[in-house]
Amino acid sequence: MTQRIFDGHNDALLRLSRKDRTGAIFLGEGNDGHIDLGRAARGGMTGGIFATFVPPDNDRTTADLRQTMPDGSIHVPDIQREGQQRALAVTLSQLAIALRIERKSAGAVRICRTAAEVEAANADDTFAMMLHMEGAEAIGPDLDELEVLYACGMRSLGIVWSRPTIFGHGVPFRFPSTPDIGEGLTERGLALVKSCNQLGIMVDCSHLNEKGFWDVTRHSEAPIVATHSNAHAVCPVSRNLTDAQMDAIRDSEGVVGLNFATFFLREDGKRIAATPLETMTRHLDHMLNKLGPRGVALGSDFDGALVPVGIGDAAGLPNLVAAMRAAGYDDELVDAICYRNWLSVIARTQSVATI
Ligand code: ZN
Repeated sequence: MTQRIFDGHNDALLRLSRKDRTGAIFLGEGNDGHIDLGRAARGGMTGGIFATFVPPDNDRTTADLRQTMPDGSIHVPDIQREGQQRALAVTLSQLAIALRIERKSAGAVRICRTAAEVEAANADDTFAMMLHMEGAEAIGPDLDELEVLYACGMRSLGIVWSRPTIFGHGVPFRFPSTPDIGEGLTERGLALVKSCNQLGIMVDCSHLNEKGFWDVTRHSEAPIVATHSNAHAVCPVSRNLTDAQMDAIRDSEGVVGLNFATFFLREDGKRIAATPLETMTRHLDHMLNKLGPRGVALGSDFDGALVPVGIGDAAGLPNLVAAMRAAGYDDELVDAICYRNWLSVIARTQSVATI
């Protein structure tokens, strides 16, 4: 039987916002991008966390902006702040795509708010979509928008993407580099963490710089989560987590999702599709060593990254499962990484909610 997969992060709503705002192409099967229902079904992907994201540039990705310096190091020039008005408009338009997909799917897709809703959807052969906001630019200083987005179903939030906001400082893309670039969370950022705890919204530390990360560990009452980040010990890019950060995540009973982006996987920091799947299991081995079997999951970054050709798209997920088995992972561990761990940490996060 195909291993079921609940994935921690994808940018399908961004892709659809550029290609097909009706969301119709998601409901069929094609070859654009990485995820649609047809390819998800073939790959065993029964659901995932779908991000809204405000791109800094409508035409170019961060990959297009990468620069290789004379010493061989790689960086993306610092990305400027985003205005709240544009961010809110973009966020709502991507949320609208998710809502349209659910409505037009004739029951094939359901927006889920809890781990129990994900399991119930999957028991009905229904694809489970959980909503995430990647960077809180759409939220103003009084946090009113957070309440509205919560009511729309959003249950996961990245305080920052890789740029500064009124809440904190995203980590710039640099290789090789530690994540310790820039200042920690602002007072508003701490208030946002508190409000997310109260509502049971998962606070995602992927894209947060290291000082901000430690601020979250000191102030959050929920497990610490990074939905799509890898091991800095294996690939020393600023976006990956140091061993000390993973120790703190383990102590909070949190979870890290393995990012499939080759830039965050490869020891040389290159973006190369011909990256062997053993590079992914090397990260998983290290993450399991630091985080334990309940602390590791998947965070593909599908539709937002160049992924290894051995996976290709959602239909290729069984190849990653095969690589895990070849690395000696038993069925229970594979199911924990691919499915169970996200649901468990979502439930633990919501158990500290005070509403
Ligand atoms: Zn991301």
